[in-house]
Amino acid sequence: MDVQLANQAVKLYPTDMAKRRILIVEDEKPIRDMVYFALDSDGFEIIEAVDGREATEILAQNNPDLILMDWMLPDVSGLELVRRIKRDEVTSEIPVIMLTAKTEERDKVEGLDSGADDYITKPFSVKELSARIRAVLRRSESTLEGSKLSYGRLVLDLDAHHVLVGDIQIEVGPTEFRLLEFFMTHPDKVYSRSQLLDYVWGRSKFVEERTVDVHILRLRKLLKPHNCHTMVQTVRGYGYRFVADK
Ligand code: CA
Repeated sequence: MDVQLANQAVKLYPTDMAKRRILIVEDEKPIRDMVYFALDSDGFEIIEAVDGREATEILAQNNPDLILMDWMLPDVSGLELVRRIKRDEVTSEIPVIMLTAKTEERDKVEGLDSGADDYITKPFSVKELSARIRAVLRRSESTLEGSKLSYGRLVLDLDAHHVLVGDIQIEVGPTEFRLLEFFMTHPDKVYSRSQLLDYVWGRSKFVEERTVDVHILRLRKLLKPHNCHTMVQTVRGYGYRFVADK
């Protein structure tokens, strides 16, 4: 990856979410280990806390970009901890994803009321966790920056759902828009068709892999008159990659 290029092209989002620091507050070691291996290989930096006391100490030193919070901790409830985090001016903006074995609707409502940004119910897959983290980080960052993503002349207005090249507005379909949003938040990294299906279409949908090709073609066709189609590259035998325009 061309680091220099990426740095100058992306103002709103770093080149990927790789250097983000995630605090996991969880007393069960197997879950901490699983999260560590999953996210470390994704390039996140992981900080671990086994209980509320340790989490509070860590938060007093430096803020992570996101917190994964277990519901049932030995010394304090995760819910109570989230309330404290959201009340404190210094930490209130940190997004929190609750990890819980509880599946009852009532508990979810209570968790979201406490200020948690999302939920993940144990047992969860590594892929699901990673996708949720990226979605929460993306949401928290896009609101900070007026919801615009840009690479060179290509601008994605997430509020207005517009794609702009310079001053020209391009009409794109909802799937092409989501695809472009995913690419622009995950530049310079190759994704397989099945990964794109998971991230862009969602795991619950049954869509054939060639659907990805169809939408990539459409996206390229829309970008071609503006000379931006080369940003969406085919990586033979693997999938697709979005690269920053010069
Ligand atoms: Ca626990």
